[in-house]
Amino acid sequence: MKLKIAVLAGDGIGPEVTHEATQILQAAAEFGGHEFTFTEALIGGVAITANGTPLPQTTIDMCLESDAVLLGAVGDNKFNHLTPDKRPEAGLLQIRQELGGFANLRPSVAYPALSENSPLRPEVTKGADILFVRELLGGLYFGQPRWWNKEGNGGGEAINTMRYTRDEVVRVARVAFELAQKRRKKLTSVDKANVLECSQLWRATVDSLKGDYPDVTVEHQLVDSMAMHLMNIPRNFDVVLTENLFGDILSDESGVITGSLGMLPSATIGGKVNLYEPVHGSAPDIAGTGKANPLGAILTAAMVLRHSGGLEQEAVAIEAAVAKVLEAGHRTADIARGNTAANVTTQQMGKLVHQALAESIDRHQSLHAV
Ligand code: NAD
Repeated sequence: MKLKIAVLAGDGIGPEVTHEATQILQAAAEFGGHEFTFTEALIGGVAITANGTPLPQTTIDMCLESDAVLLGAVGDNKFNHLTPDKRPEAGLLQIRQELGGFANLRPSVAYPALSENSPLRPEVTKGADILFVRELLGGLYFGQPRWWNKEGNGGGEAINTMRYTRDEVVRVARVAFELAQKRRKKLTSVDKANVLECSQLWRATVDSLKGDYPDVTVEHQLVDSMAMHLMNIPRNFDVVLTENLFGDILSDESGVITGSLGMLPSATIGGKVNLYEPVHGSAPDIAGTGKANPLGAILTAAMVLRHSGGLEQEAVAIEAAVAKVLEAGHRTADIARGNTAANVTTQQMGKLVHQALAESIDRHQSLHAV
């Protein structure tokens, strides 16, 4: 398998964690006999410094010529004086738009070794392994009309519009159904169908597709009770399908299941080229100190293999290597708790995952040889 991966490391801890992620991808390529090529380009603050813009056209072109885009993080306090459209973060919003992905995937996994890190009790998080599929290009964030009349209607009036077409729901729902088929075959669709017409369309559309996926069990949850169920019995959920706003809120809420922002990967698929990025930002407070947790970026690399390479086995091997390193007690500062103190740097954590991956491949190969 050949994969051309555009790497946009960005600002702050972006380059530190992205380096570890690309090392793991390189290792997966070598172990599996694949050919991955990496091309680097600028985004965010580093792009402003070099080119005067947070997203140079050369970066866009390179991304569009690639099979996948791996992004670190953007954001640098030294550009806080600029207007929002000129800041590093504008580059991120623009690249998401250029690539056009409509399905945002965010896994929330409870690692047994990190059970003390979540504010939820270990018996609550135990066994949780959820994949959020959030619609990303429609709904309240994009619907027209939208405005804020600061003088209108006695001191101010504002409008946003939640709007969905059936086609927009169909395309993201199909992604969720197909992912559920590859997982535990349960799909929970979230809406507010007792109040909103948009949600009634959403629910009817999801129901109309059920026949195409007879092996998937479908349930509907209202968003308010879903917020509660996720914190009470997260292990009850497999793939969770949501519209834009509900997914924004629920996927952040579910981040607490894993216990650290530094552990969370994401992917945005369905557009011209898939975009992969850890959920965290550029963390200027720890940039350059070796304290950044690279596991979110490494788990993001696993998503590149799964969703752009179709390399499920390799993706699972990386995820297992991460779990193994955590089981062995290795911790960056953000996931250190109680008796398990911070004992590794960003680079050391990356190397440990690399080692665990190599060991699992060796074991696998010798099993085959027997
Ligand atoms: P942040 O995610 O950068 O950091 C929040 C807190 O989590 C900080 O204390 C940080 O040290 C910690 N943290 C984050 N990632 C970590 C990791 N991998 N390992 C260990 N600790 C980690 O969010 P913020 O502080 O609100 O924003 C900082 C900058 O990042 C801002 O400029 C913001 O606009 C930008 N940002 C970018 C993205 C992105 O690129 N996708 C996302 C969010 C924020």
